[in-house]
Amino acid sequence: MPVYTLPELPYDYAALAPVISPEIIELHHDKHHAAYVKGANDTLEQLAEARDKEQWGSVNGLEKNLAFHLSGHILHSVYWHNMSGDGGGEPLAADGLGELADAIAESFGSFAAFRAQLSKAAATTQGSGWGVLAHEPLSGRLIVEQVYDHQGNVGQGATPILVFDAWEHAFYLQYRNQKVDFIEAMWQVVDWQDVARRYAAAKSRTDVLLLAP
Ligand code: MN
Repeated sequence: MPVYTLPELPYDYAALAPVISPEIIELHHDKHHAAYVKGANDTLEQLAEARDKEQWGSVNGLEKNLAFHLSGHILHSVYWHNMSGDGGGEPLAADGLGELADAIAESFGSFAAFRAQLSKAAATTQGSGWGVLAHEPLSGRLIVEQVYDHQGNVGQGATPILVFDAWEHAFYLQYRNQKVDFIEAMWQVVDWQDVARRYAAAKSRTDVLLLAP
């Protein structure tokens, strides 16, 4: 039995159009995300085989592959739920999203400043990567991370709550080389209810690192 499985999309392929075309969503979920799930499972099997045979010659590459595929699986699993055809705007107290709105204002100064930082972080990834809003449990603050591939340049222990996929496979069929335009359009489909739910869950486990007695 595989350890990891491809989650179903929470909407149909056309749900995010015109911001993201059905063709992109289908390929991105059914092919790209599926490949990370398979990669994570395959790597776990190869590590089990290495343990059984006590053959450690490939352990370096296998651990790197596990980090890559598992992180790809996790980030995409968050990504699909971060978006909705009814999304957009910004979190507002009037919509029951006051805690998230306050946390963003306290951590970044304002929603506009946060939006600018996440947009820039996502749009300036070199090669493949992500812009990520994460809850950082030591400080309790929200931070923006610019993730290389799926796993690099990350502060250990932070929980991603809003992720922008900036890999070319996320936009190239529709936006060609205009990554900045794609990132700007992404804001129209952000599901703030989902982000707020993830923020509340992350905040409730702030002692997860147990660094203080
Ligand atoms: Mn992707």
